[in-house]
Amino acid sequence: MIYFDNAATTMVMKEAADGVLYAMSEAYGNPSSLHKMGIDAERLVNFSKKQILSALSDSSGNVIFTSGATESNNTAILGLAKTYGRRKKRVVTTAVEHPSVTMPFEKLRELGYEVVTVYPDSHGEITAESLISAVDDNTCLISCMLVNNETGYILPVGQAFQKIKKLHPECYTHCDCVQGFEKLKISAKKLGADMVSLSGHKIYAPKGIGALYIKSGIRLSPMMLGGGQQNGLRSGTEAVPMIYGFGKAVEALTQSIDERFEKVSRLKALAEDRLTQLGGVVLSHDEASPYILSVSIPGFKSETLLHYLESKDIFVSSGSACSKGKKSSVLGAFGVDERLIDSVIRISFSAQNTEAEIDSLTKALYEGINTLARIK
Ligand code: PMP
Repeated sequence: MIYFDNAATTMVMKEAADGVLYAMSEAYGNPSSLHKMGIDAERLVNFSKKQILSALSDSSGNVIFTSGATESNNTAILGLAKTYGRRKKRVVTTAVEHPSVTMPFEKLRELGYEVVTVYPDSHGEITAESLISAVDDNTCLISCMLVNNETGYILPVGQAFQKIKKLHPECYTHCDCVQGFEKLKISAKKLGADMVSLSGHKIYAPKGIGALYIKSGIRLSPMMLGGGQQNGLRSGTEAVPMIYGFGKAVEALTQSIDERFEKVSRLKALAEDRLTQLGGVVLSHDEASPYILSVSIPGFKSETLLHYLESKDIFVSSGSACSKGKKSSVLGAFGVDERLIDSVIRISFSAQNTEAEIDSLTKALYEGINTLARIK
């Protein structure tokens, strides 16, 4: 089996799985309990918080654990607007965000906010200038992702947010870092981000766990009301096993960012080269993550290719897995030609992938191209 769908989700790494098992079978107290079992469980939650803050280079920040980045994005956007948007009813985002950002912004529109959407330019790039000029003194929030999940494009978040914070100190900044975390070195301060969303299952931790980093001093209205856990920001007993597994994955990965980056860069370059030789059109950007390669094989439907590769035990994605066959509006916003969009497959790497696997992918695609029916 060859797995090239790591941007959709990843295998749980041993360190994370061991951590989950330990918290379930040994440190299974409730972190709110006052006795030793409770304190032990709380210690695991604090360990993971510390790992995340250290990976984001801000030991003074806050972290709340959520059910995943979807909840983190919803909490950041709706919670921020509720606190700071009473008199500033203008918010800014981009046309290439994940639906878990786009939909909360739609909700804000329904609630009477002016939503400004920044589009890529004719080169398929969102410039820092276009983000900066979209913000005015009446804007309470800008949300911009770091790495696009469909093409790997790296947006100029740091450049834009830092300037925005200087020009408009009362505009808060949120970054969906799901596809960048533990792949690129991220510093919340260098990003100029007041809030950062993270997801466990993209970094070899289980599904159903995420985190929201919140810079110290920022007040969010909670989405979940109840027992007041996590400083009242996210009520409900903490999912200690998942939280600890997440923390153990962060701990293990932070040490190997550079090494993995180099390996994956080599794999991506090789795959780009091979697939271009087969007639594939790589959707490339000047600034891109080596972990994601989107390529269009003109003349063939994405899903046909995906299932052909599946028959050879090779797993890729057709555009974004979240859109499940629906045509991607994000690729359209990047200016990708309609006919190419229908033929895009996304290959997303992990450092466990090998050059031999790229050879197998190339061979399978070559066979597919020569045997499958072309789009008329
Ligand atoms: N943002 C981005 C950029 C993503 O790729 C994803 C996952 N597809 C999410 C948010 C949502 O993450 P989760 O599955 O943890 O809710």
